[in-house]
Amino acid sequence: MSASCLCLSLCILWPAVPGDEPAVAADVVIRGATIYDGSAQPGRKGDVAIKGERIVGVGNVAVTGQPRIIDGSGLIVTPGFIDLHTHSDEPIAASGTRNNKNYVVQGVTTVVTGNCGGGPVDVAAFFKKLEQNGIGSNVIHQVPHNDVRKKVMGNVNRPPTAAELVKMEELVDKGMRDGAWSLSTGLIYNPGTYARTDEIVALAKIAAKHKGFYASHIRNEETGLLAAIDEAITIGKEAGLPVHISHIKANGQRTWGKSGEVIGVIERARSQGQVVTADQYPYIASSTSLAATVIPSLFREGSPKEYKARLADPEQRARVRKGIEQELIDREGGHSLQIAQFAPEPSWQGKRLDVIAKENGKEMIDLILDIEEKGGAATVNFGMNEEDVRHFMRQPWVATASDGGAKIPNSSVPHPRSYGCFARKIGYYALAEKALPLELALRSCNGLPADILHVPERGYLKPGYFADVVVFDPQTFRDTATYDKPHQYSPGVVYLFINGQLAIDKGEFKNKLAGKVLRHAE
Ligand SMILES: [Zn+2]
Repeated sequence: MSASCLCLSLCILWPAVPGDEPAVAADVVIRGATIYDGSAQPGRKGDVAIKGERIVGVGNVAVTGQPRIIDGSGLIVTPGFIDLHTHSDEPIAASGTRNNKNYVVQGVTTVVTGNCGGGPVDVAAFFKKLEQNGIGSNVIHQVPHNDVRKKVMGNVNRPPTAAELVKMEELVDKGMRDGAWSLSTGLIYNPGTYARTDEIVALAKIAAKHKGFYASHIRNEETGLLAAIDEAITIGKEAGLPVHISHIKANGQRTWGKSGEVIGVIERARSQGQVVTADQYPYIASSTSLAATVIPSLFREGSPKEYKARLADPEQRARVRKGIEQELIDREGGHSLQIAQFAPEPSWQGKRLDVIAKENGKEMIDLILDIEEKGGAATVNFGMNEEDVRHFMRQPWVATASDGGAKIPNSSVPHPRSYGCFARKIGYYALAEKALPLELALRSCNGLPADILHVPERGYLKPGYFADVVVFDPQTFRDTATYDKPHQYSPGVVYLFINGQLAIDKGEFKNKLAGKVLRHAE
């Protein structure tokens, strides 16, 4: 067999098909593309055949009937991307965003909601709503600890009573029985930040009973990073379930360079038989609310009214100021923070806090307190360094996930990850920068997240699997969304099949609602 081949990385051909290989009936055949099947094998030239909602052939495929033939030459075909970490709980159910365009055009066929402990607690009602109205990608949901706790206890800084713990366990159990895949926590957010390790272990045991996993936005991503990783691993060990670290990072200059130690701790747990994985968005900036970033959780208890009263009380305000001062050490005194969304002053969106403070003749802490008194803001935080980002990225247990949400272009200046995460990981980091092999980058977007979820019949190109398939042009698949102009769709996906339906055809977004709710079976 001659091996002249134009694909970008090491590319081998499929072994010759024996002459008596049966031909398959197909609706569509992608011919002569470079196939990356989700397993981290190097690319191989071949065909992918699809019939109905399933893949029916991969490799040298002989077909019967009159299928549509897609010329795959120069293109890459790989399983559709599975985004383990989105905050699309509301937008995936809303009329303007349920088509999930900013993700679909990046090749995303499945999104996971219920992250960082936030999202619908009533899993059955959420799924029903999605199924009634349709969704642009498949959706997988998790039981969100913060909202479970809020429902049972409110926003209080204390451990649950025995009765409250039972109520929370019942909610987690119901969520898992209704088809959620894991328990998620967000331990910097309210009210989950007030939960001790033993509470989470008790609830994680319920997820374990249903063969789910534990996903966590850990308690600290700055100087307390290693202790927070340890806590997550302990929870997995004590509750007896896989641990997944959400958006892994070493945040703040004092923590830069710690990726090696973090990886070491996780590798040790893995070598001792624990299942520990992570996901990452390929950027040096993170994004969340200003309050979660700089206001210590101690001051965030209770209702918004109580919070405002606390900020207005002179004695408490002095304590809050001290707390903010400490938090600003890891945020370059405020310079690393950019306003993403702040309705009272839209002109501040896209600007750094120190610039805004200077322009308005304000002290940094006064500016922050002003923003909080007016209802708070969303921020982008330039807190990581490139070396740590790349170090985490190269680990075979780190999946790609955006931490973003379904969006339509508007005047806010959010983190570009919602529009560019997958295109950036593959187009920029793997293809342009060669920071990691393309097959590993692709696996981090499909086979690996499928393994982490244990989602059946997705994440790989195999006959019989669901036809969630992306076909992209390696020359043009890039992120164009920037920190200044984030509302930019990523180009380069030429075809996208979701459950066998063409959601993108010849580069054109078809506005199909081809997604399904995927329910966990146990
Ligand atoms: Zn998070």
